[in-house]
Amino acid sequence: MAQREGDPTRRDFLKAAAALAAGHRFGPSDDLTVVTVRGPVKADSLGPTLPHEHVLVDFIGAERIRPGRYDRAEVFRIVLPYLREVRALGCRTLCECTPAFLGRDVQLLLQLSRASGIHLVTNTGLYGAANDRYVPGYARHESAEELAERWIREFTHGIEGTSVRPGFIKIGVDPGHLSPIDRKLVVAAVRTHRATGLTIAAHTGNGTAALEQMEILSSHGVAASAWIWVHAQNEPDLAIHEQVARAGGWVELDGLSDRSVDRYVKLLEHMRSKGLLHRVLVSHDAGWYHVGEPGGGRFRPYTTLYRKLLPELRRRGWTDEDVHQLTVANPAEAFAVRPRLKTRS
Ligand SMILES: [Zn+2]
Repeated sequence: MAQREGDPTRRDFLKAAAALAAGHRFGPSDDLTVVTVRGPVKADSLGPTLPHEHVLVDFIGAERIRPGRYDRAEVFRIVLPYLREVRALGCRTLCECTPAFLGRDVQLLLQLSRASGIHLVTNTGLYGAANDRYVPGYARHESAEELAERWIREFTHGIEGTSVRPGFIKIGVDPGHLSPIDRKLVVAAVRTHRATGLTIAAHTGNGTAALEQMEILSSHGVAASAWIWVHAQNEPDLAIHEQVARAGGWVELDGLSDRSVDRYVKLLEHMRSKGLLHRVLVSHDAGWYHVGEPGGGRFRPYTTLYRKLLPELRRRGWTDEDVHQLTVANPAEAFAVRPRLKTRS
């Protein structure tokens, strides 16, 4: 951003962001909300929630992406039946995790949410995984503070000239030790969290990248509960799942498909047996309309959780409370907007 530290516009803006963060909406227990594309809803009215799915993705890359690469009316027509299908199975809220420069389209999400009756939640942030292919040029030279300012502005003013606000921060980092750009995105996300109370969902390659992110949160005074380890199922060392959950972070197992039900049952039962079910999220990372493929390519439905996983868990003795914890209470707590600052121990 062109604005500088001493710029009065910037000072006013930062003051407004701070006031917003201090507002009643972020009170410790009452009136917590989740920000959907149609506006804030009370966190305790979200209902069964899929925390990580996609409606549309365009993998063309940040350099070449532009509006008009697909027909929005066609995408609407193709995606709507899938949202209606999962709503009929009980789902009430779906977090759409496609970031800017990968096909985030808030107008489309708004239309689909209205037509399907499902709450859709969109995001701010940037995706630094895939070797920075989806990182726009400005993000390479701007500071973490400047990037955070862009993201905070989307929360305070709306996304791309609309009144749609992000309900979480989506970032992505590559596997292994964090690269300088990935580190900058994490710091920008942490700063955005402090100003807005939005939860950080971080596409994360593996446990090393997860633990380094947790350190950054901690060194900026932000609690691990503000952070979701996206794609935690890709880390085979379950001790790291436990470590992150014990520290208060969210362990998101989000690649569920008809072929992986048994594996997800094992991962979930492991966490439950350790008393860590209250830190776990589960989703499909499914969908989506593939921009550039005829008819949007092969669309994976959002239904395995309802059709296969939950019935199997119930057969294994999971109670209504366990299922409610996993599919309703955990997402509501994870996405409820409020700053989560570290308490001194
Ligand atoms: Zn995803």
